[in-house]
Amino acid sequence: MLRAARFSLIAAILLGIAWWVSTIPGSITAHSGDITVTASAPVAIMILALIALFLTILFRVIGGIRRAPGGLSRWQGGRRQNLGQVAIQRGLTALAAGDAKGADAEAGRAQKLLGETPLVLLLTAESARLMGKHEQADAAFKKLTTHKDMAFLGHRGLAHHAAATGDVDAARTHALAAEDAYPGSTWARAARLDVAVKNQDWRSALGLTQAPHEVAAIATAAANAATDRTAGLNYAKQAIKAAPGFAPAVAAYAGRLFEADRIRAARKAIIKGWTITPHPMLAAAYLSKTTDPIERVQTASQLAAAKPGHPESEILLAETSLAAKLTGEARRHAQAAIAAGLNDQRPYAVLSALGDAPVDAPTPKWSCTACHAESTGWHPACPNCGKPGTLNWKTHTTALATTALATTS
Ligand SMILES: [Zn+2]
Repeated sequence: MLRAARFSLIAAILLGIAWWVSTIPGSITAHSGDITVTASAPVAIMILALIALFLTILFRVIGGIRRAPGGLSRWQGGRRQNLGQVAIQRGLTALAAGDAKGADAEAGRAQKLLGETPLVLLLTAESARLMGKHEQADAAFKKLTTHKDMAFLGHRGLAHHAAATGDVDAARTHALAAEDAYPGSTWARAARLDVAVKNQDWRSALGLTQAPHEVAAIATAAANAATDRTAGLNYAKQAIKAAPGFAPAVAAYAGRLFEADRIRAARKAIIKGWTITPHPMLAAAYLSKTTDPIERVQTASQLAAAKPGHPESEILLAETSLAAKLTGEARRHAQAAIAAGLNDQRPYAVLSALGDAPVDAPTPKWSCTACHAESTGWHPACPNCGKPGTLNWKTHTTALATTALATTS
């Protein structure tokens, strides 16, 4: 009610002023050089009022812009930030797509827009690495190590490159620093384990893993390498505990017992291993102290009796019988080995030595579960990919076993 009254009052005053202005007589003339403008007094007053209103609004707008803190520069900064973020996003996508050139270009753009922020450094380093510019990559990773929250990534990048170039000491240093920067990191632990294995520092390596297959392989290597016999035996025991029946571990343990002239204990350990997993390495260890061919057949029979009818027991008897010129026994056991499912070249080699036609069959090998590389001898770490404890013994018995299953089902 009050507002309506006030509005009516103001309107009445304005109308009054307008009426009064319209009644002012005469005219106003303005001169500027040769130009002369003449207007009636009411029109001139209206124009002056409009100019005053326009100038008031203009000064207000300019004042507002000037008062806003860093108005224009802040707007420009925000734009750079946004463009920089877009460059980083595009660069990361290019990295994931394996587009080294694209990632490198975006990294350069991001650096111009944002400077050397940690994310820009990471993108620069990774794209440089992908381009094969290792010095530039290392420089960026090095700068990254000075940023508290990204130091881990810096050391990880440097450790990767050091490991790839075979600089084991630098790889170890950066893996340790990475673990400091991110305590409990599984990657840093794996990197340190990798370095310890490469250095054949079995003691350190054992402190860095609890995975049974890795412990078994590394402790076996430690048992074989130990100069102290007791330490060797203890490492071998640790390996057997991690993977009971693991042939290289049992062979290492028995080897150490043989060295100490504890023949019975050694053979007992091998028989125990044979009952879990019969393996040629165990057979070789069991027969290592016997040279006479007939005696070797008898000794082999003792071991084979721990797992009668097993393909490895049969092939052991076939091979020792052949060496002792017991041809009938050799043929019988070779055929029994094949019947038991062994279809690698060993039983066929025995039969062809007895005059049968040769059969082309694969040689049993150690095979890496990580990279599938094959090797004839056992190694604590894969000779191809370097991973510890990945070599598995691969005989050719499964195909026949699978066929048998298929026919019975
Ligand atoms: Zn491998």
